[in-house]
Amino acid sequence: MRTPTCPACELPLAVADTAAVKRGIELVSANTSQWRGRLNGSTCLVCPKCDAYALGIETRIGVPFYSDVLSAFLTVHDWDWWNADTVECDSRTWPDFGCVTISESGVRAAVDYVRSAARPARAPAAVARPRLAEIAGLPPGREVEPIWRDELRKLELRMGSRYAYADLEAAVVLLLDVLARHPWQQTSLDHAIADEQA
Ligand SMILES: [Zn+2]
Repeated sequence: MRTPTCPACELPLAVADTAAVKRGIELVSANTSQWRGRLNGSTCLVCPKCDAYALGIETRIGVPFYSDVLSAFLTVHDWDWWNADTVECDSRTWPDFGCVTISESGVRAAVDYVRSAARPARAPAAVARPRLAEIAGLPPGREVEPIWRDELRKLELRMGSRYAYADLEAAVVLLLDVLARHPWQQTSLDHAIADEQA
């Protein structure tokens, strides 16, 4: 089993962008002692239950994270982590970008974060696009640009055109980049590619 579990509550851990988590911690003035040593990389593991306060459970907009068991980006607001089993969480009707499922609150949280000043400068989306398109499962061997734009437009409509195209693109890049950077996710992605080639 590739998903590490929380040593305190045994819930499968999720992965998030470290700078976004740091902003979440700051926004609610969460106790930083429980984060010691966990925020050194560019991505970090989070427990949706034990870290719920820092992940924004008491605020309107949370911090987006990727749950390997749910195969989706979401926030603490999407599920009752205390009373319900994650196997019952049905993400089939959630929005997506390519093969990557993102809850509506996950999209909202990612847009909110990329619009904030807390976001470190990153390479322009176009530079990293082929790699990110691969992670999103967009069809290989075809020109990436039109497919990438179509997927963003679909997401834009799915979100009721509430967000500007550029903000949505920055949000999607942030989330796909979490998958690109996290070593454990990288491993599972490589396994998936190897399975496909087998
Ligand atoms: Zn926990």
